[in-house]
Amino acid sequence: MQNFQPIINDIVNETKRQKDKGKVASYIPELSNIDPNKFGICILDTNGIEYSAGDSNEQFSIQSISKVMSLSMAFSMIGEGLWKRVGVEPSGDPFNHLSLLEMENGIPRNPLINAGAIVISDILISNLKNPKSDFLKYVQGIANDSSISYDEKVAASEKRTGFRNYAAAYLIKSFGNLKNDVETVLDFYFHACSIRMSCKQLVKVFYIFMNRGNCLQNDNYLKLPQVKRINAIMLTCGFYDEAGEFAFEVGLPGKSGVGGGIVALLPNKFCVSTWSPGLNRKGNSKLGMLALEKLTTDTGLSIF
Ligand code: GLN
Repeated sequence: MQNFQPIINDIVNETKRQKDKGKVASYIPELSNIDPNKFGICILDTNGIEYSAGDSNEQFSIQSISKVMSLSMAFSMIGEGLWKRVGVEPSGDPFNHLSLLEMENGIPRNPLINAGAIVISDILISNLKNPKSDFLKYVQGIANDSSISYDEKVAASEKRTGFRNYAAAYLIKSFGNLKNDVETVLDFYFHACSIRMSCKQLVKVFYIFMNRGNCLQNDNYLKLPQVKRINAIMLTCGFYDEAGEFAFEVGLPGKSGVGGGIVALLPNKFCVSTWSPGLNRKGNSKLGMLALEKLTTDTGLSIF
């Protein structure tokens, strides 16, 4: 593989020149006081070689990026039966969109919108003994890093203001597609979203989707057909109503979160994460999108 250091140094310099860094999410009060000037990037290639620049060691709230990890854990536990509870079509709508069109008979359109991730949380709760600590251990295990943790303040902050997620959960519950009570499901969901990670930690977790289901320590977490499905869903649904734009500009499966993180991967080649807290109008990191567009355009490395 090539040496990515010069290109990511260039990217960091370019992001410093950008005047419009986007707007930090404020609907989760605890996220609103993050410094918009932060920018971090990290690449982990298939040989385990890491390249990083900027604030790549600083932890941030991964938010919706956690939806891929909960999907991965639920899928590996219950297999294809999962698709009876959640669909696989892009929604073309914002992440927190609440409409009956998003759900047919209480089946959310895909696992990476809030409604879908709430159903996945319900599946995990039904199948785990200690859902919150088992899920955290799963993530820590993939990254081989026991310092990864929930941010209780962020989880509590979202619980206080997450009215739309309550509305979505009750709507799904009314169709019979939540087996556990709404409070328990949302407590799990808000905790999963509150996980803190740095760019360096994030690429280690997503290494399994780049490396045929195997982590850096070579433990297997997913079968190859499962990796195919998860990457397909990331490509088509990972950026809400901007998934088409991300495929067009960047050309990699990936996932964003309102904490300003983005993680993306080129199967069998590399995994990349960026963090810049300012968001564009669609709720995706503004400079993160720019950085990844430059990375894949300048290197010619994308799935296309
Ligand atoms: N926890 C956030 C929410 O449910 C996650 C949204 C996101 O990162 N896009 O609203």
